[in-house]
Amino acid sequence: MLGWVLFNDKDLWLRFTMSAASSVEKTPYALGGAITDFTAVSPQISEKLFLILRKKFVTDVSGRIDTPTMGAYVPFLRKALETNPYLFIYLKFYAECLILSCSNRDALGDVLRNFLCEDVANEFLPDMLLTNDADQTAEWLGKVIGRDMEFRRSRTKAQISDIISPDSSLAKYTPAQRLYILKCENGSGLNRSFNMSISSEYDFDRTANLGTVKASLIDNGSTVLAEYEISSPDDLIALELFHTVKGELPIKKCRCCNEYFVPTGRSDSEYCSRISLGENKRCAQIGAMRTFKGKYAENPIYAEYNRAYKRNHSRLRNGKLYDEEFRDWSAAARKARDEFIAENKTVEQFRLRLTELEIE
Ligand SMILES: [Zn+2]
Repeated sequence: MLGWVLFNDKDLWLRFTMSAASSVEKTPYALGGAITDFTAVSPQISEKLFLILRKKFVTDVSGRIDTPTMGAYVPFLRKALETNPYLFIYLKFYAECLILSCSNRDALGDVLRNFLCEDVANEFLPDMLLTNDADQTAEWLGKVIGRDMEFRRSRTKAQISDIISPDSSLAKYTPAQRLYILKCENGSGLNRSFNMSISSEYDFDRTANLGTVKASLIDNGSTVLAEYEISSPDDLIALELFHTVKGELPIKKCRCCNEYFVPTGRSDSEYCSRISLGENKRCAQIGAMRTFKGKYAENPIYAEYNRAYKRNHSRLRNGKLYDEEFRDWSAAARKARDEFIAENKTVEQFRLRLTELEIE
């Protein structure tokens, strides 16, 4: 079993044990945010994360005689946990398989078959490449588990599209009805049965006695929630999708990166708050800039400012301006640009102002 998941109005909590010895832990995520973030993880990023674990494992194994334990991977896994529960489940599973490849290699086939999607299992398990070469084994395991993650990621993304897109072939159904239709399809991964129990937001020790529970419920004002056991990534996907759709949370497609997201602030926002691959700004920041540019782009003052900016920036690059001079100039020019646009002044007036600001 991977752990438990609890659902509140707009949150979900993941409860799990990090390693056999450690106690139950709990991490909160925005409902709908966790699953849409998962569908937006680029394969380059996940490959990089798998590679970090693989390298660490190979270093650990070559430097010691005893079997590595989960403890060594906990700091890394905690970071994954902060990022996304699905990513965390996959990386944790990879770490567990790496350890198992040292301690009980014969058990790996069954463990993998239990976890992997049928398609991925059928593709890879007939030719398991588990050898005494730690790097080769780690590479093969990373490839298989990474392939499984990519499979579920793209399947979920396609399902979200079917649920919300106005062009979907299911467009005449409500989102919840669409989800139900998808569930009935073969191989959707959504057709799971769940083991649900009544749980409290406050995480009691499983052996706590009734007196402790009663006293603590008053002290903590703890909410009572539905808690489900999850034994496969599909369980979490199916449950989060269901609760998101049922709770009518808005799932949107970001106008910048084209990935799905659930707005955490204003429900009419068009941009997600993720930083996509190769960018150093969040989509929301890029979106705000685009809106600004769209509004002003037709204004000749804006074009005039851009020309002056490019000219002075190349002077800076060629060492004809000091950093400080350029910074002061661009701040003043930007201020003038916005004022002149706001006051409906002409581009000739703005040119004159730029001449005054120009650094000799
Ligand atoms: Zn985005």
